[in-house]
Amino acid sequence: MPQAVIAIHGGAGTITRAAMDARREREYTAALEQVLQSGQRVLAEGGSALDAVTEAVRLLEDCPLFNAGKGAVLTHAGTYELDAAVMDGATRNAGAVACVKRLRNPVLAARAVLEHSEHVLFAAEGAEAFAQAQGLELVSPDYYFTQARHDQWQRAQAGTGMALLDHDAAALAAKGADPLDADKKFGTVGAVACDANGNLAAATSTGGVTNKQVGRVGDTPVIGAGCYADDIAAVSATGTGEMFIRTVAAFDVSAQMRYAGLSLEESARRVVMEKLVAIHGRGGLIAVDRDGNVSLPFNTEGMYRGVARVGEPVNVWIYG
Ligand code: ASP
Repeated sequence: MPQAVIAIHGGAGTITRAAMDARREREYTAALEQVLQSGQRVLAEGGSALDAVTEAVRLLEDCPLFNAGKGAVLTHAGTYELDAAVMDGATRNAGAVACVKRLRNPVLAARAVLEHSEHVLFAAEGAEAFAQAQGLELVSPDYYFTQARHDQWQRAQAGTGMALLDHDAAALAAKGADPLDADKKFGTVGAVACDANGNLAAATSTGGVTNKQVGRVGDTPVIGAGCYADDIAAVSATGTGEMFIRTVAAFDVSAQMRYAGLSLEESARRVVMEKLVAIHGRGGLIAVDRDGNVSLPFNTEGMYRGVARVGEPVNVWIYG
């Protein structure tokens, strides 16, 4: 049996050491470490991979540093629309919600869909009604507000009016670059885990891309694109969602292993460094296989990420 392990991400993008100040670096590092420790604890106490990834993503949603739950980015209309998914590799059960505007923790709604519904994906008001019936917490849109995201949205509105991705902001702003480009970063969050029984699970949650059109849904809640788990691999992605949908990126990591016999590392590398790049897809993913191997490739300057094996110190990285 493998040693239980959890990996998380807090988004990819133009995240460079040059643009990061020491205080922010410490904030991100501490947040990632705390979340990893919580996930590690779930696994150490014999919890399932599904429980570990749900808890990790719930905590990342509550952390305003990341673009999910509190801290989510704004749509073109200045509103919030959140997406999340969770998948259990052992059973292939999955649950997802898209375009929700009033749920404190979209990942808990996704988990409720997985457990208590015959369906896989709920959208908008229907998703909120389902979550409410399951006893989940509703919030007013002000709950998601952070000044940083609001400023970022205003810069995007003043620019081309195109949708922008999340973590590129600070880097380019620091270089005095065009403030529009300054907001190209992907702050989605996710977790993958392999538990002590060798079962795998993945969860992903996001506010999407800054200044996106109302009603736009990215890869995050699309099973096989931004989130996937089976008996071979569990994958959570972050990046330009449209390209992850078009390459069926998360599923492809597992599929190449199953059909072509690739290792986790090689399969994840081909998806991120070749297949996504071929259609100008930017971002990265985190993946774990049933032997507890972990792969964290990204084709951007950085990706907030970390790994914690049960019984070992946690490891966090930001840059390439
Ligand atoms: N993949 C997300 C989306 O397209 C964005 C992100 O990763 O930050 O909605």
